[in-house]
Amino acid sequence: MVTVLHSRASLTCATVSGRIRVPSNSLNVGIVGGGIAGLYAALLLQIHGHRVRVFEGTDRVGGRVYTHYFTQEQDQYFEAGAMRLPQSDFQQYTFDLINWVKQFEGLTIPSDRRVELIEYRLSDPGNRLFINGVKGDGASIMSTTPASIQWNVPTGYENKSAKDLLGEAIGDFIEALQQDFETGFEALLKFDNYSFRYYLVDVMGWPTEVIDFVETVTSQTNQFALSVPEMVMQNIDFATEKWFTIKYGMNRLPAALSWLLGEDNITYGARVTGVQNTDDGEVTITAIGNNGRIDATFDKVILAIPPAALKMIADRPRWGTDKELAIRSIHFEALYKMGLRFKTRFWERVEPNPTSGGQSTTDLPIRWIVYPSNGIGEDGPGVLLVYAWMTDATTWLPLSPAERRSLALFCLSQMYDGEVDSLTGVPVDVYDLLIGTADAVWSARTSTGDAMFLPGQWLTRFEPARRSEGNIFFAGEHLSYHHTWIAGACESAHNAVCDMIGDVPPLRPIPFFFRDHDQQPFEHGRLSATVPPTEEELDHGAPLLLGSRGDDVTPKVSYQFTPHEPLFKSGRGWSQSNQNSAAAFPLHMGGDSHRTIGCEFTTLAGPAI
Ligand SMILES: Cc1cc2nc3c(=O)[nH]c(=O)nc-3n(C[C@H](O)[C@H](O)[C@H](O)COP(=O)(O)OP(=O)(O)OC[C@H]3O[C@@H](n4cnc5c(N)ncnc54)[C@H](O)[C@@H]3O)c2cc1C
Repeated sequence: MVTVLHSRASLTCATVSGRIRVPSNSLNVGIVGGGIAGLYAALLLQIHGHRVRVFEGTDRVGGRVYTHYFTQEQDQYFEAGAMRLPQSDFQQYTFDLINWVKQFEGLTIPSDRRVELIEYRLSDPGNRLFINGVKGDGASIMSTTPASIQWNVPTGYENKSAKDLLGEAIGDFIEALQQDFETGFEALLKFDNYSFRYYLVDVMGWPTEVIDFVETVTSQTNQFALSVPEMVMQNIDFATEKWFTIKYGMNRLPAALSWLLGEDNITYGARVTGVQNTDDGEVTITAIGNNGRIDATFDKVILAIPPAALKMIADRPRWGTDKELAIRSIHFEALYKMGLRFKTRFWERVEPNPTSGGQSTTDLPIRWIVYPSNGIGEDGPGVLLVYAWMTDATTWLPLSPAERRSLALFCLSQMYDGEVDSLTGVPVDVYDLLIGTADAVWSARTSTGDAMFLPGQWLTRFEPARRSEGNIFFAGEHLSYHHTWIAGACESAHNAVCDMIGDVPPLRPIPFFFRDHDQQPFEHGRLSATVPPTEEELDHGAPLLLGSRGDDVTPKVSYQFTPHEPLFKSGRGWSQSNQNSAAAFPLHMGGDSHRTIGCEFTTLAGPAI
């Protein structure tokens, strides 16, 4: 006999992929928006036995997670939306979600929806800088000094690097946040009514030329008009050392989530235009669907859409003044990305500064060139992207697609002027090398960009925007402390679900620690199901036959698993696989956070099943 111990006492109760044993208090929840926040909330509710239906206004899930594939050949894509994941404590939600998804791999998720993390290179020695007409080293962008790019500043500042200057201005805030986020953020909020620019003038005493220098080198035009907490948080995230992206494209994440949720639970092409409370406490949703008008009634609804989209749902209750102000005013910054597909990955071959990943910085309209971290060193065509934020992004909007392409190529030709492909000996001609382009003007889409608060908005808009209104709840990256990131979308969805059904743990794999008679841990983590449990077994807690994965130190063992209470499961089906290998058994102990479902493991004789 062995016992199973949960590493976190709160993660108890059992759910697994496949069917739902609906608890007696099961809710019927409508979710507006099939971005990460909407999908996360839907899955979290579903594994707790609630019924969900997601309304997505477009024909795809993912929202601002959006990979554009030029062709289906390997690495011929660019990330038009989210592209990189910093591995820090602040971003744990994303990595937990990915690890949660990965538990189902090999069993239920089709191979073209699996999520595999690969290294993302934030910078590379070959990255360039081209600012103020001066070319230089973009790899150590933070070490740029005003003198090195002939930027006129008052005496005494010429040789101060952007890093030193920013360190003096916000180093203490960052340290405080790293020590204790809540206390650190509290201290930061004292400066919420200041724009970062005003803070630098008033508190730090910086001359305007110095502020302009730092903003140009490290950020984008007019970003320092945002609130102090916003800019400090941005700096803390970009100070992360280890970064990842998803192999074959970030799209894989929402694709896996929608698979686990069950496509039947998503209504595509359904733009919600109305949300109303009924007299008997329910909530109705009206949408314009592919087949005309949709009307549906739910116990509760989550609006997992950006404020700009919510504002345009005019047929809804008028909430308090503070809420309405928040919906109307929360500031989103414009974002612009263009992917350019070339006949070669010339940037990896030019002399004297070949570039493998990372990004170059310029004050030309393209602002950043981001080199792909996927497919480095491959022969054949490759895709890079140009990326602009804030005012630098807005200015792309009025141009036609042809004008945008022409402008981007002109800027790239300036960056690579006079450089030679080391393989062919031919000067780089971006016009000749171009195969095609695609772009995303986010300010022209429903989100309008990403949340970046103006001065005072943390203090006055954040809490009212998050507050639930009766049976209507709110989610979306803008409602989290880590907005502008996928992690923020997850955090907001987790908060909304907890607000609705009580505290439940976030989506993360639940580590099991199995101990044998001598209480020696001998297996950690996953088990493989050899035979899918029957309906009866699930409902009556009958023994299940499982096989351990085994590894170098752990023999493959068969177990009989006898839960003391019935299990229920949700999402997709059980593995039919007999393989006793790395395939994960999608058994979760989650759900009711206040009690533990006991179970017994009996070690059966013999090796792997
Ligand atoms: C260019 C860009 C780069 C980014 N880079 C990164 C990055 O590198 N790393 C990172 O972690 N994050 C990044 N982000 C941020 C990240 O993508 C977002 O924080 C996150 O995806 C937001 O998820 P969400 O669910 O809150 O909103 P969204 O993704 O906007 O989802 C909302 C969904 O609601 C739908 N919708 C809107 N209105 C309606 C309606 N009326 N009816 C029905 N459906 C509706 C939309 O179509 C959309 O699918 C980036 C974002 C952008 C745009």
